[in-house]
Amino acid sequence: MFCNQCEQTAHGTGCAMSPGVCGKDQDVQSLQETLLYGLKGMAAYAHHARRLGEVDESVDAFTEEALFATVTNVNFDLDSLLELVLECGKHNLRVMEMLDEGHVRRYGAPSPTTVAEGTSAGPGILVTGHDMVDLENLLRQCEGTDVMVYTHGEMLPAHMYPKLREHPNLAGHYGGAWQKQRREFEDFTGPTLATTNCVLIPKPTYAQRLFTTRCTAVPGGTRITDDDFSAVVALAKQCPALPEGATQRSTVGFHHSVILGLADTIVEAVKAGKISRFFVIGGCDGAEVGRNYFSDYAQAAPPDSFILTLGCGKYRIRDYDYGELLGLPRLLDMGQCNNAYGAIKVATGLAEAFNCSVNDLPLTLVISWFEQKAVAVLLTLLYLGVKGVTIGPKPPAFITPNVFAILQEKYDLRLTGTDARADLAAAMAG
Ligand code: SF4
Ligand code: SF4
Repeated sequence: MFCNQCEQTAHGTGCAMSPGVCGKDQDVQSLQETLLYGLKGMAAYAHHARRLGEVDESVDAFTEEALFATVTNVNFDLDSLLELVLECGKHNLRVMEMLDEGHVRRYGAPSPTTVAEGTSAGPGILVTGHDMVDLENLLRQCEGTDVMVYTHGEMLPAHMYPKLREHPNLAGHYGGAWQKQRREFEDFTGPTLATTNCVLIPKPTYAQRLFTTRCTAVPGGTRITDDDFSAVVALAKQCPALPEGATQRSTVGFHHSVILGLADTIVEAVKAGKISRFFVIGGCDGAEVGRNYFSDYAQAAPPDSFILTLGCGKYRIRDYDYGELLGLPRLLDMGQCNNAYGAIKVATGLAEAFNCSVNDLPLTLVISWFEQKAVAVLLTLLYLGVKGVTIGPKPPAFITPNVFAILQEKYDLRLTGTDARADLAAAMAG
C-alpha cells in the first residue's frame, strides 16, 4: 500500500507498509481507493449531467460523506467501507440515468443511423471526448460557415441523437479510440477540440491546433472555459483543407429504448431457441496487447448471439463482419461508456419480460476497463447484484487479494483469462 495523506506519514514520505502509522491496513486502503476512484468516475458523469441541467442533491450528499470516509482516522472497518463502495455504485446508477435522460430530453429520442467515416474536402474541426454540450455549442458556432465538424472516439454516439445528427455542419466521424489520437490528431489537418478525458499530451506537431474545455488541459494546447469556440472556428478556416477521404460507413444508435422496443420479438426468439445468448463486450479501450482478448471473444461468440457494445472498447471489436440476426446487426452499438446504463436497462427489461432475475438471463458481461469511469460502472453492476462479470485485461492494482476474494465470493467477479475462446465456452456452458 502507499498513503501519504496526513502529517504522521512514515518518515515524512509515505506509509508504504501495512498497517500504516495510523493503523490503516492495506485492505482498508484498498476499499478507500476503490471508493475514491468510483467517486471520480461518478463525478465525471455527474459533471456532464449537470451541464444538461440534471442534478440530484442525494448524489452530492453521498459524495461528501464518501470522501469524508477516506480522511485519516475516520474509518478502519472493512464491512462499512464495502457498504459505501456499493452505495457509490447505487448513486452512479442514478447519475447515469440522469445523463441518459438529459441527452434524450435535449437531443431527441435516439435511433439507429449510419455514419460516414473519413473526411470530405474542405475545412473541418475534430471533436473528441464525451461532452455533447460542447459538440452542440461548437455546431451552433459553425452555422453559416463551410467549416464541418467530425466526431472522434467517444463522440461517435452523438450521431444517434436526431437534433445533433441533423445539424448541417455535422459531417461524420473520423478516427478510433483514444490511444491512437497522437497519430490521428496529427494527420487531421484542422483543429481538434478535446472536451474531456481521454486526451493525451500532444506532440508539438499539432499542439497549437489542440483546444480543450474547462478542466481538460494539456501543455501546448489552448484551454477554453467560456463555451466561446470562435478561435477554433477561425483556425479551421486558416488550416490546410481536409482531403476527400471516405473510409467506411458504420451503424450506431442501438440505445436501450430501441432494443427494449423489440423486447417482444427478442423474448419470442429466445423462447424459440433462435437467440442463444447476449454478450455485453465493451467499456474502455487501451494500447495493451492483452486487449485482443476482447476481439477474440467477440469473434468467437456464436452466430445466434447478440453482442452489445459501448464505450471506446467498441473500436477493438467493430472491424469484423458479425452478420445479422433477426434482421438486426449482431453487433449493436449502444453508445458511450455511460450508456452502460442502457445495457443495465436492457438486462433488467429482459429479466422482467422473462420473469426471472438478471443473473438467470442468458447474458454474459465482459468489461474492458481503463480508468475511473469504468470503476464506477463496475460498482454499479456489483450494487445491482450482477454476478459473473469478467473484467480485464489486467486486475485493478488498487484491489488487494483479500478484497478481490471478497468480491469473488459475493459476486463471482472474474478476471479475463489467457484464452478468450475457452472463457466464452465456459460462459456458454454455465
Ligand atoms: S492516513 Fe494513515 S496510512 Fe495514510 S499517511 Fe496517515 S498515517 Fe499513514
Ligand atoms: S470509454 Fe473509457 S477509455 Fe474510452 S474514451 Fe471513454 S473514458 Fe476514455
